[in-house]
Amino acid sequence: MQIDFRGKTAVVTGGAMGIGLATARAFATSGASVWIFDIEKEQAEQAAAAIGARSCAVDVTNSDSIEAAFDQAGTPDIVIANAGIALFGGFSNHTNEQWDRTLAINLSGMFRTVKAAAERMKPRRSGAIVLTASTNSYDGAANQAAYNASKAGILGLLHSAANELGPYQIRVNAVCPGLIRTRLTTELYDDNQSLKEYFRQIPLGRGGEPDEVANAILFLASGLANYVTGAALLIDGGQMAAKFGTWTDEKAEFIDGTWRLK
Ligand code: NAD
Repeated sequence: MQIDFRGKTAVVTGGAMGIGLATARAFATSGASVWIFDIEKEQAEQAAAAIGARSCAVDVTNSDSIEAAFDQAGTPDIVIANAGIALFGGFSNHTNEQWDRTLAINLSGMFRTVKAAAERMKPRRSGAIVLTASTNSYDGAANQAAYNASKAGILGLLHSAANELGPYQIRVNAVCPGLIRTRLTTELYDDNQSLKEYFRQIPLGRGGEPDEVANAILFLASGLANYVTGAALLIDGGQMAAKFGTWTDEKAEFIDGTWRLK
């Protein structure tokens, strides 16, 4: 099913690649006028040219940069706060700078984006905002303290924003992807043995693709979700529903990155 976004303007932060680019492309394909806000200026320009969008060099850690970009793009109907990084390390070797940078982009960057978007949407009494959180918003692993804290924090931001912006008919929701094949996860995807063990825990037996997250974001941003706000939608192949893992070597085999029943 194709959702119709003709006449709508959608802004996607971190839209130059990965989940953001898939989302920007899906909005463009569905008729929206799309703006990519990304720190990678050239990559954003190329991505925008390829999908018929426009781009703006934006650093989400900098309020002036965000405000200037929104001034250029005009009042958006839809804002996808998606820009994020993953810097991993244990307590003994994770530097304070890595912690600060992760929080500055992943959490404070989303706050700044929501704040700028909300101020422009409020007078219209309408709008849809979607935040890219994570399964890491709920659970965690060693060596990911900063990333986990940032992604858990996004749910706090989500709940407050939904409360505050609901009276203005601005809906705020989040997607919580599991492992998705992007630049962020290249290292893991290059290691077949680690993937096999990771996907053993996932009922659908595989990782996700950026398009699969984009589809959920489009749904939450669309009129089909008119009565949905404050929600966090897992897009994780069932990972967070699996307590004891799903796949065993007796019953299944791991072929081309996917567990399949024998
Ligand atoms: P990615 O590295 O492919 O894309 C991230 C984008 O954010 C890039 O285009 C990058 O240039 C941009 N960006 C980084 N810092 C920025 C800044 N300061 N200002 C503006 N833009 C900036 O990674 P991705 O996997 O597509 O990640 C997108 C979002 O999805 C992130 O918030 C990430 O935490 C989240 N996420 C990813 C996964 C996964 O498995 N890939 C899982 C859960 C959540």
